[in-house]
Amino acid sequence: METALEQYDPQIYELTRQEAARQSGSIRLIPSENYVSKAVMQASGSCLTNKYAEGYPGRRYYEGQHVTDLIEKVAQERAKKLFKADHANVQPYSGSVANLGAYAALIEPGDTIMGMSLVDGGHLTHGWKVSVTSKFYKSTQYPVSPETGRLDFDHIRDLAKKNRPNLIISGATAYPREIDFEIFGQIAEEVGAYHVSDIAHIAGLVVAGIHKSPVPYADVVSSTTHKTLRGPRGGMLLCRAEHAERVDKAVFPGLQGGPHMHTLTAIAVAMAEADTPEFVAYAKQVVKNAKALATKLLEYGFNLVSGGTDNHLILIDLRNKNVPGRKLAKALDRARIVTNYNTVPGDPAPPSNPSGLRIGTPAITTRGMKEPEAEQIATFINRIVDNIDNESAIEQVAKEALLLCSQFTVPEHFIIPNNKNR
Ligand SMILES: *Cc1c(COP(=O)(O)O)cnc(C)c1O
Repeated sequence: METALEQYDPQIYELTRQEAARQSGSIRLIPSENYVSKAVMQASGSCLTNKYAEGYPGRRYYEGQHVTDLIEKVAQERAKKLFKADHANVQPYSGSVANLGAYAALIEPGDTIMGMSLVDGGHLTHGWKVSVTSKFYKSTQYPVSPETGRLDFDHIRDLAKKNRPNLIISGATAYPREIDFEIFGQIAEEVGAYHVSDIAHIAGLVVAGIHKSPVPYADVVSSTTHKTLRGPRGGMLLCRAEHAERVDKAVFPGLQGGPHMHTLTAIAVAMAEADTPEFVAYAKQVVKNAKALATKLLEYGFNLVSGGTDNHLILIDLRNKNVPGRKLAKALDRARIVTNYNTVPGDPAPPSNPSGLRIGTPAITTRGMKEPEAEQIATFINRIVDNIDNESAIEQVAKEALLLCSQFTVPEHFIIPNNKNR
């Protein structure tokens, strides 16, 4: 059947088809990516994209909201139940806006924030120098221990006492270990700072009970909805009842206009999916796969930051392999293995050409891969490292990777059949 997109815009149809083929025909190891279900995809591509809904349920600025009010209330209730939070705001357009919303709710411009340094695994929006979060706020950062690659809470407490931040951010974008949010909460209390916890990467592990939730220990919890949570691209904020009004006002009218109702609708669907035993099993398998992949990489002599992983991601320090991160990521991409180059703690090289590679298992686990496939992927990575300048060896891995992909289908796409490989 010819779709409307195919008929009206063959150029964009063809590019979208190619991307669908790329997604099914490659081993996607970027830890912040996933495959949404067909149900989430349908909600995201629904008529809700046509509706403006500035405001909140019962308090909108345009008419015609009897359906959108119900949808948003469902999404809020599901978020509150899933994360055991007093209040949920499901409107932020993304994780970055959610973070800005959390800061705007709690502190004033010119106040001081303290987050994890980007080069050590923190996110841009945790006060990194090129982010507006370091321009609107004074920013001071904490590192991980260069020896262990782990958070050093004595050091973080000392830095907090010295720099007196108004707000401390816990959470990371490239940290392979479980984060103790309770200690962050204690440090924040000791210095009279608010505690914002950003679980963008690990939200799926938190709802599955694999990692401890920061909700009891943070003033506001921020998340994306599209990483391990496996929803559409979006953001959300969770908080205690006492901060509900400030959080809502910070998101709208503070930062945003109308929420993306199609996304919000798809977030509701993703949260219903996440509230099932199947999702818990999925999240457990994500971690098992990451551990299997890490163990095999260690056998091949790779250095892993912190020595391994407790979550869905692995950070490889490539310095002993004498291959720069970017060169390896590009060779892997030619071998149908999609990763991202990344800094490692204390990296002497710049973020544009760093010494590390970041990989993760959320997407391969969604397509049903388990420990044997994770180990096979480690073998592929090792072969590419050993043959970094050998295009025919890279080509051979690409063939084997495609064969592996062909045994694990991805969730169906409702516009474009995407199990055709490129
Ligand atoms: C991905 C991520 C974000 C930002 O999410 P976007 O949706 O890309 O804006 C924020 N914080 C952390 C820790 C992240 O990993």
